[in-house]
Amino acid sequence: MGIEALKTIGVLGAGQMGGGIAQVVAQGGRRVLLADLDLARAERGRDLVAKGLAKLVEKGKLDAPSRDAALARIVPVAGMEAFAEADFAIEAATENLELKRKLMRGLDQACREGVTIASNTSSISITLLAAETSRPQHVVGMHFMNPVPVMKLVEVVRHPGSDPAAVALAVALADKLGKTPIVVADAPGFASSRLGLALGLEAMRMVEQGVASAADIDTAMKLGYGHPMGPLELTDLVGLDVRLGIADYLTSAIGPAFAPPEILRAKVADGKLGKKSGEGFYTWTADGKKR
Ligand code: NAD
Repeated sequence: MGIEALKTIGVLGAGQMGGGIAQVVAQGGRRVLLADLDLARAERGRDLVAKGLAKLVEKGKLDAPSRDAALARIVPVAGMEAFAEADFAIEAATENLELKRKLMRGLDQACREGVTIASNTSSISITLLAAETSRPQHVVGMHFMNPVPVMKLVEVVRHPGSDPAAVALAVALADKLGKTPIVVADAPGFASSRLGLALGLEAMRMVEQGVASAADIDTAMKLGYGHPMGPLELTDLVGLDVRLGIADYLTSAIGPAFAPPEILRAKVADGKLGKKSGEGFYTWTADGKKR
């Protein structure tokens, strides 16, 4: 199947990432089936996209008819059964190995033969996920960055059994969405998560040890190393729960260097998940501003 045949994309998981992926796919002119645990969650995902598009209109970056057309291309659906109509599927549900294994089996059942299934996992082995399906050669990783409409990178992850045509299709799709794809081997945490998390976890340990405040550690990386955003602010943006999930997985896959610090576990247990919950290493206003 070539890129021109990809008319409808199934996106499973209508959270931060699934919503962002749905937005860029719809803005690129393709139809999106946006699925979550139930219809209400899928609709909430589309409502978030509507808000994102409205901001672009406010800023003069998008005109109202293009916004309406993009939004009309996103069809919220109750579950992945609707993906029988999809020409390509992207899984973007919660970062949890057992859940993703189950979802891969479901997607394999739901999608037509030959359809490529991509996972947006930040860390989990694509080889493992592919093995859950009857089409491992058509399973790849497609790791978008947050926020999807803004960030250029997509890591396309190939595993030893990937069909080069499936990898090429994911690369072509990322390219069509205006992203810059890189192809990486299926190693835990790929290229970006492994390196980014190492920095984030060390920054958390430094807060724990009283080396400096979160804001000062972030300033050190911004002004000292030219990072556009510090590792703790980035953690708030990504979601502390998401980073904890990745850290747990990388600990099991690589070793104790990725063991999550107590401060991360405690904040997640307290519901301090970062920007999305209003508090993480910073506090956030309801309109998404850092205090
Ligand atoms: P999120 O919590 O915002 O969204 C996850 C969504 O998955 C939720 O809407 C949830 O209801 C849904 N979900 C859970 N179980 C489901 C099921 N059985 N069926 C259908 N939907 C289900 O999380 P997120 O930040 O969007 O992360 C999603 C994926 O993207 C994860 O694999 C994560 O590692 C990856 N990712 C996240 C970021 C980031 O910065 N947040 C960046 C890159 C990749």
